[in-house]
Amino acid sequence: MSINTEFKLAGSSLSLMRYPAKHQHKSLQAWDSADELLLTHWLESQQQTNNFLLINDEFGALACGLLQKNTDTDVISSSDSWISQKATTKNLQRNEIEDKVRYLSSLDTPPDADMVFIKVPRSLALLEWQLFHISQCTTERTSVVAAAKVNMLTPSVFKLFEKYLGKVTTSLAKKKSRLLFCCNEKLNTPAPAFPTAFNTSEQETGKAFTLLNHANVFSRQNLDIGARVMLKHLPELPQGSEQHIIDLGCGNGVLGMALLATAPGCHVSFFDESYMALESAKLSVEKNLPEQLANCRFIASNCLEGYDTQVLGSADLVICNPPFHQQNTVTEHIAWQMFHDAYKVLRPGGELRVVANRHLPYGQTLKKRFGGFSVVASEHKFVILSAIKK
Ligand code: SAM
Repeated sequence: MSINTEFKLAGSSLSLMRYPAKHQHKSLQAWDSADELLLTHWLESQQQTNNFLLINDEFGALACGLLQKNTDTDVISSSDSWISQKATTKNLQRNEIEDKVRYLSSLDTPPDADMVFIKVPRSLALLEWQLFHISQCTTERTSVVAAAKVNMLTPSVFKLFEKYLGKVTTSLAKKKSRLLFCCNEKLNTPAPAFPTAFNTSEQETGKAFTLLNHANVFSRQNLDIGARVMLKHLPELPQGSEQHIIDLGCGNGVLGMALLATAPGCHVSFFDESYMALESAKLSVEKNLPEQLANCRFIASNCLEGYDTQVLGSADLVICNPPFHQQNTVTEHIAWQMFHDAYKVLRPGGELRVVANRHLPYGQTLKKRFGGFSVVASEHKFVILSAIKK
């Protein structure tokens, strides 16, 4: 089976790929029926639209569809995902469409728009944050159209739309997706209180921390169980250590911070593909280890793509609690790429330490790439694996 890349829309077609293209499962497409519904709605409505705000355009299907049909439209694309924005630029290039898109992170305040398309995200907290921003950048005349698979449109989703924007009507379901239509009724609902904070104890993290978390951060209300196990089995660093550590897929930064607290001379590069994760890690370091902030970098990237050893030097240690989702899809390709990228950036003798769900076959990948691995600990459903670069 080969990947279906042909997205057909109203008599024309686009060639779209997920990002990174080479690791995607052949059954996965770079668009879904919610994208088709949104674009068809726009084409059929024949509404004069000078500027669009796209929110959560996963792989750029919306931006490519709009700009293919109307090259004069201004498109702003707001997302929490570095990968989504990279996929959009790649797909525009693939289709030889000029990249006029203005990319905003989910933390930026979007400007006014004539029409807003939002793909409903998995996280209700992120949706709430984004609806608040829509309520601030639109008027009663702006069309706000949301789309999602029917099973994601829970009563809580409708409640959030009503809380921030007002009354919602829906389309009929088509290919398992549905549109929601609303206008901003100017309800002046106050902003949701992000970032939120939770505390950890000295026993859990070596030093008690207050961790700050924006809306879309993994395990934003408490310590993840895998992270808890990893925290008990982090490598011991000598007091005066000046090692270069990478916290790969850092979330709120708790793992890198725990190491930094024991060895304050270390340098930590926090990597994540979520802008909210990186900002949360930065705020958390600022709050708990302000003197070490100058030793830290916060880099948005797909795994370690953005790591340049010429500029940053080789790493002594990579710590990683890998994800097993890309957007709504369960996948092992990210962990696979994380381990391969870690190998590339480690110095000989450097270590990759991973926490993994026992049932996942990460040991095999480490063995292939590093030539071996050891099990540092095994607790409940988790194992801590260590691989040394020869
Ligand atoms: N280190 C944190 C902890 O232990 O609580 C978070 C771990 S969480 C399981 C995985 C993290 O990887 C998430 O913050 C997610 O945003 C990030 N992530 C997912 N895909 C990524 C990718 N392709 N490149 C970089 N980071 C990614």
